[in-house]
Amino acid sequence: MVLLPHEGFTVNREGHLELDGFDLVELAERFGTPVYVASERRLKANFRRLREAFRKAYPGETVIAYAVKANYTLAIIRLLLLEGAWMETFSGPELFMALAAGTPPERIVLTGGSRLEKDFREALEAGVGLIVVDSPSELARLNRAAGSLKVKASILLRVNPAIQVPTHPAIATGVAGSKFGVDLASGAAFQAFKEALNMDWVNPVGVHTHIGSRILKAEPFVEAAQRLADFLVELNRELGFEASYLDLGGGFGIPYHPEEFSCPLNLEELAGKVSQAIVGKLEGAGLRLPTLILEPGRSLVGDVEILLARVGNVKETPQGKIAFLDASTNHLLPVLYTGQYFELWPANKADKPPEETVTFAGPLCFTGDVIAVNRRVPKIEPDDVIVVFSVGAYCKSVYSFHNAQPRPPSLLLSEHGVEIVQRAETLGDLAARDRIPPRLYRGETP
Ligand code: PLP
Repeated sequence: MVLLPHEGFTVNREGHLELDGFDLVELAERFGTPVYVASERRLKANFRRLREAFRKAYPGETVIAYAVKANYTLAIIRLLLLEGAWMETFSGPELFMALAAGTPPERIVLTGGSRLEKDFREALEAGVGLIVVDSPSELARLNRAAGSLKVKASILLRVNPAIQVPTHPAIATGVAGSKFGVDLASGAAFQAFKEALNMDWVNPVGVHTHIGSRILKAEPFVEAAQRLADFLVELNRELGFEASYLDLGGGFGIPYHPEEFSCPLNLEELAGKVSQAIVGKLEGAGLRLPTLILEPGRSLVGDVEILLARVGNVKETPQGKIAFLDASTNHLLPVLYTGQYFELWPANKADKPPEETVTFAGPLCFTGDVIAVNRRVPKIEPDDVIVVFSVGAYCKSVYSFHNAQPRPPSLLLSEHGVEIVQRAETLGDLAARDRIPPRLYRGETP
């Protein structure tokens, strides 16, 4: 039977899958496919659970800064803002989206990989609260940018703890040799911090790390927290520095594959162990507890959104049956760049047992446009409505335009009904940025 990712999914008398009481087959009928559908209830529940877990476990303040990169639909940013979240934005455009949703700039943590003076000036002019610096080179640029505006920039230094991170290599960041952060073990991070303390226009207020994404074990977070806490003790001992913030980044995984459902990341246990690691080290050294910042993306939005797609043509091959959907890997890019597994099921046959093995392909013009291989599902026929589960993180936000497919609309389900929170992109939108120089219209076509 279908493995449902959370309690918001139910099956009605017609055998249709419902999300928060909304019949998904009816939604597909009414709004067309493909279409993204998000649950406001689930979004709030995810935020509140994480907040409560850390409120209970960490005796200092905790700030949850939503990693906007996971899904920057304005309504989603806005809902989290209303729950009390800060925002973590990795780039100028993400900063724009966070501000557009109404985020007060002082509640924004701006991270990044390689920014120039103009990027820092824009952030400072916008009034961004905390800037996370990724390298000594960025530090020098930020000092110059802040100096040119005569404002002092509050910064966190991003460090690389060089630990083992159990996830796909493309999304493991806190590993030795990664392009992110300044190495801790070699003393490079200490040196950079010392430089920052001596700069005129930079005000170091804490440290930052982000070890990777889709991590289902607590241990790597605990290890990272320990390294950061040790670093704070060293900074205090050697330089007399006392931190206001310790930012542990995001990365908390959610189950996608059936095997992962039996061993999900326990957030309460994670909060307990991470807090213990920080409190033990800092209190032992007589330091006050900094505000703990977390930057979750996936764990807040991942299972909030689904994709509804419709089966078009069905084909039997000597290697098995292929069902073509009107959604593609454009809508589910993690399938291509990390080989990610997404659970799927026909919404109109939610009460039926698996009966056959089917590969689900998209309609794009390349062989790799396959969403799911050899899945055991009820009999699949043209017009079936397929639910792809847990597409809320890094699907819409990393969309690819292969074969010029326009982006689908997004719906939000709540006690207020169904609301369109992102309109469908039109064919006109696709051509809107282009300009054919008038000289190319002169003369006859051959
Ligand atoms: N913070 C930073 C700096 C990141 O780069 C990312 C993801 O890449 C996140 C937070 C969010 O990670 P996740 O969505 O896995 O929680």
